[in-house]
Amino acid sequence: MTKYVFVTGGVLSGLGKGIITASIGLLVKSAGYTVTVIKIDPYLNVDAGTMSPYAHGEVFVTDDGGETDMDIGHYERFLHVNLSKRNNITSGQIYYSVIMKERRGEYLGQCVQIIPHVVSEIKQEIRNIAKENNSDIVIVEIGGTVGDIEGLPFQEAARQMRFEEGVKSTFYVHVGLAPILPSGELKTKPIQHSVQELRRIGIQPDALIARSMRHLDEEARHKLALHSNIPPHGVFSCPFLETSYEIPLMLNDQGFTKYLLEKLDLDARQPDLSEWALFVEKLKNRSKPVRIAMIGKYTKLRDSYVSIIEALNHASAWNNVKPELTWMESTDIEKNPGLINELSNVDGAIILPGFGRRGAEGKIEAIKYLREEDKPTLGICFGMQLMVVEAARNLVGLKDANSSELDPNTPHPVITLAPEQVNVREMGGTLRLGAKKIIIVPGTLAWRIYGAREVYERHRHRYVVNPKYVDVLETSGIKISGYSEDEHAEIIEYKSSELFYLGLQAHPEFKSRPLKPSPVFHEFIKFISENSPR
Ligand code: GLN
Repeated sequence: MTKYVFVTGGVLSGLGKGIITASIGLLVKSAGYTVTVIKIDPYLNVDAGTMSPYAHGEVFVTDDGGETDMDIGHYERFLHVNLSKRNNITSGQIYYSVIMKERRGEYLGQCVQIIPHVVSEIKQEIRNIAKENNSDIVIVEIGGTVGDIEGLPFQEAARQMRFEEGVKSTFYVHVGLAPILPSGELKTKPIQHSVQELRRIGIQPDALIARSMRHLDEEARHKLALHSNIPPHGVFSCPFLETSYEIPLMLNDQGFTKYLLEKLDLDARQPDLSEWALFVEKLKNRSKPVRIAMIGKYTKLRDSYVSIIEALNHASAWNNVKPELTWMESTDIEKNPGLINELSNVDGAIILPGFGRRGAEGKIEAIKYLREEDKPTLGICFGMQLMVVEAARNLVGLKDANSSELDPNTPHPVITLAPEQVNVREMGGTLRLGAKKIIIVPGTLAWRIYGAREVYERHRHRYVVNPKYVDVLETSGIKISGYSEDEHAEIIEYKSSELFYLGLQAHPEFKSRPLKPSPVFHEFIKFISENSPR
């Protein structure tokens, strides 16, 4: 019988509820249980694909082509699994499905309402995912903060599931903030209030996780326990740490796994976290400093690039390298071309993915500098496309070359709409999405990285390298080292496979895991470390 763990948040957002949920997943998985994790996003968008990364953080892409909330990325990294797009449920999807049923007449004349119809749809979807994954434990993170209007149907579904599945098959975790005043005093009142809010809608939490700048002392723990009706050993202290990968270890040390499994009437097996602990140890003790420029246009919100940052962490932990990231906003380069000179101090650079014209010329200027100076460079998706534009302009001599995304009237569209995209009109879910085969050319840098003839990486794009320009690009020193099944360029490099100048149409960061870093990021970090003068 499946057990359900619900994670809610209180006080405010941004407390790392996704990481906590992922950590709980890792703990029960490491104790030998099969587990899947669901993220519920109460907004009305059907998926995250149509949302700006600037407002909402990165759009994470699953193998099956879902454009999901970035928390799915945390779950995949912590649990070392590939999840489906179905693991991200939104209000948009639920209402869409209810309205379609109503149009098909499936409600047989009933008045269709939030309760019971919308709430039943939510419970049904959670149970379907549990069944399809054959999971012992399903962890459901309800996005947002208790008290948000749009989250209510989901919280009601969580409440009803305890009624239907029983106390021993459901467990509620509530995560809140314990702020510290300038006087140094740690306050538990905001969490007490959010627990009251949760109880008002009928949920009595089983465990509390308090996030704070430091550990709860015994007095604070007891106060929270008393006011929340939870035994003191059900109140957990989780300070903001140097690395969030430490959270599972910290929760386990406080007895979280034991408490959870006992409450769920499961064998309280000890989780085996030895490999995870080794990774955390390596991550925390990285010593060789290198400097990497991160060139993009959403650099003010680091969450826009979270999977890339984590892929760098994974690779650098095992290579004993400590990257210092120098963020460069490409629109600033356009306003102040002198900024390019800052690149002379870096050991390597990443040209970040993106969409649209703003900031693109700044990226192209940076690429020119990096290529001419033989700086190790990794271009991802849009970054790779702009590497091609730069080469067309400055190596081939096609001065007005561009991507037709940026200039629809360019005389030299070296990057052009993929053929299957030409008749696409709707925006949601219509890009070239998900895991696709890449055929690697032997003897190239890509070959050295992957060591395989065929690999799969995840994609999210509409535009591709225009096949008409491949020959002339190849005579200028650019080499196509990976192809898609329909023979479009997937990977490009430059001059010599002994350098590291690599652009990928795919996003290798989405498949990087702490215990199995992406080979692309691994080689990039290793190359930089071996060639850095520091
Ligand atoms: N804008 C480009 C395209 O649609 C690249 C997208 C990306 O970087 N993810 O092809």
